[in-house]
Parts: sequence; structure tokens; C-alpha cells
Amino acid sequence: MIEMGGIKINSMLNNRTDVSDDLVSSSLSHLVTTGNNIGAAHIHIEPREKYIIVRYRVGNELVLGSKLPVNVYPKILSHLKQKSGLDINESNRVQEGKILLDNNSDHAIGLNISPVIGGEKIILSLSSVNHNIASLKNLGYWGDNLYLLNKCSQAERGLILISSNDKLGNLLTLKTIANNLYFRGLSVASLGSDIEASLPKSIQIKTIDGNSNNRIADENKMKMLLRKNPDIVFISNPGGSKILSSILVQSNKRLICVGMVSDGALGILNKLLKISNYHELKNLSVITSQKTLKKLCINCRESFTPTKLEIEKLTQYFNFLSIEKLNDLEKMAIEDSIGSDLHELSSSKETINRLYRSNIHGCEDCQYTGYIGKVNITEVIESDRDDLGKLMTIEKNTLNEIRNYLNKQGNISMELDGLLKCLRGMTDFRDINNLMKVNRV
Ligand SMILES: [Zn+2]
Repeated sequence: MIEMGGIKINSMLNNRTDVSDDLVSSSLSHLVTTGNNIGAAHIHIEPREKYIIVRYRVGNELVLGSKLPVNVYPKILSHLKQKSGLDINESNRVQEGKILLDNNSDHAIGLNISPVIGGEKIILSLSSVNHNIASLKNLGYWGDNLYLLNKCSQAERGLILISSNDKLGNLLTLKTIANNLYFRGLSVASLGSDIEASLPKSIQIKTIDGNSNNRIADENKMKMLLRKNPDIVFISNPGGSKILSSILVQSNKRLICVGMVSDGALGILNKLLKISNYHELKNLSVITSQKTLKKLCINCRESFTPTKLEIEKLTQYFNFLSIEKLNDLEKMAIEDSIGSDLHELSSSKETINRLYRSNIHGCEDCQYTGYIGKVNITEVIESDRDDLGKLMTIEKNTLNEIRNYLNKQGNISMELDGLLKCLRGMTDFRDINNLMKVNRV
């Protein structure tokens, strides 16, 4: 179900030992992301005769991850020892330290290296400190959006709506929020078969016959669940507007997080504006949307100077934003380690100097695809402002009018997040362009 560390130093490179530091580092980040996403406490990396095995400690279980070619092991070991200040030449005693991986710069990972037959064994400890922030970051949230989502998920009440173009994306985000709440000792309940299966320890309502269609969260089950008085309820795929409306009402007493498959936050907001009154809408904390795109291979990605026409099109599409403001946002993105491997800014106060796209031939590192891994582009619409009242008074409540209003308020739309991640060398400009075409009005 969850991709287990489908990591780049896999397969193709069996006869290579000259793996770059960047590649080792991004691959380790990927293992940590996977570990965080599945709620692992530790990651075990052990050399065997023919390959390295990666296992995740989740609860009492060791879940098998990917196998890596054994010849990259010395590189992984020396990389970890070097970055954590341990003795590179020592291999006969246990060494312990802490390491900051690039994509998790606010998140120190515990490191234990101990001698075993045939080499040294590595254990990475994913500490619970900053767990939520680091993992939400790995899911593509940063800056104000990250702050907002995190703040709302720490609140005692309110409604968080997570919308994503795919079910797995929703589930990962819900689960990331839930894992953090377990650490705080709160009682967590779940409703809807997807999230119920992902949170087996949560309070759930079991159907008596066991085979009724419980894929969709229904209203009766929600009532039964609320009688158990949980602190937080996670709901996947609520069916219809009626349940959405009662979820909204119930979220004045507790925190409710809902995952929905949808094309975007705006559509959901528009629906909520139609089915609820101002008083009920006050319970809504945030609506997020996320979309998964392919991530550019940093080894072979191409930068290019956008043409006059391309810049014109961009400034037209993002007409609520000056280039200077875009430049400020890029600086903020760097501060939050978005594309931190690029040392230069791609924008200036006057213009966009560089955009990125994939190399159509690819390279050995990315198995000639031009991409390695995935990157989420995200949007968070906060409703804890006076906006709702104003939005409700907008004449027709059309998506465009709501969009215009939010843009003027400084909301970072998914397209803008995508463009910023393109400036930082993560997303392919072709993908951003396509997204803009779809949403162009
Ligand atoms: Zn490549």
C-alpha cells in the first residue's frame, strides 16, 4: 500500500561505488519520510552478504522496506558518520550521535552505529519531537501554510478538511496528523474504512454483519462514535453534503479531520458556503488541498531562462502578485528548505531568471526518466479570519470570485506553490503550465 522506500540508489547502480553525496543524502531523506509516514520509531539498515536490508520498526513489528545494493553501504556509513561528527575510521565499537538530514533541517534524527558480523549496523531513531512539523513538511507544506495546518491540528476543536487528488495522499496527511496526537495521549476515533484500517488502535464502530458497505462514512455511525466522546475524530470519504453539514456542527465540541478526494479546496469551500450558515462555518479551521507531482532529478534537471512571452503569461496568471513579492516568497521558501540544494535564487526583484524542467533523456541516477520521487504542491485556506463573512456576501459565490478574493488576501494557491517549487528546482515547469491551463479562466 505504502511505497516502502523506493529508493534511488537501487538496481541500476549495482557496479558503482561512486555514488554522489547528494544522492545518498536524498535517499536517506526518503527513507526517513517513509518512516515518518508509516509512524515508524526506528529505521534499521543492515548489510547482508548480497544486499542491504532496510526495516522499519512500527509498534512491535519490523516492517521490511527496500533492499539496496551492498556496494553503496560504505558510502552511506561514511556519509552518516561524517554528518553527525562520528569517527569515520572507527568500526569496532558502538557510536551514537545525532544527524540533521537536508530536508528535515529542524528535525534531528538519532543515529546508532554498532559492529555486527560482516560490517556495521545502522539504526536511525525518528524522535517524536517536531515529528508533526517535519512530516507535514515532507508532505509539501511549508511557511505560513505549514504553520496554519500545524496550529489547527493542535487545537481542541474545529474542522480540518484535507482534500487531495488521490486517496493515498489524503490518508498520509490524516495519518501524519493522527500520529502526532497519539504522542499527546489524546483519544482518537476513526470513521470510514480507509482511515479505520490506517489507524487500527483508534476508537471505531464495528458493523455487526461485518460486510455492510462501510467504505463511506455514514451519519448513524458518526452519531454512535460521538457517544464515545473521543477528543479527535478522523473521517475518510464522507458521503454527501448532509454528513458534511453535521460534521461541521459537531466540530464546535472537538477536533474533526476529514479527508476527501477532490479537485481542490475551493470547490469544497464553495459547497460549504451553500449548505451552511455563518455560525456553523465558524467551526471550520482550514481547508487544504494537495496534488502530487513528479520530482525533478537534481542530477540532470535543466534550468532555462523563460522567454518574454512566458514571463508575460505568468504575470498575467498571477496578476495579484508582483515579481518582487514572488521573490520574497522564494526567499521564504528557501528558509524553509524548499529546494535547499540550489544555492542561488531563481527570481530577482525585477524578473524571473530561471525555471526548471526535466531532462528528456534523463541520467543514470533517475533511470533515464528525468524524475526521482514525488513532490506535493499544496494550498491551505484559513477560515479563521473575517473572510467567511465576506465570502458569503460575494454575489454568486463562483469559484473565480472566491479565488480572486483569496488571492488578494495573500493566500498561496496550489499553482503558486507549484511555481515556487519550480523556481527551487523541484517541479517541472511543464506540469505547472498544464495546471495553469486547466485552471485558467
Ligand atoms: Zn537524472
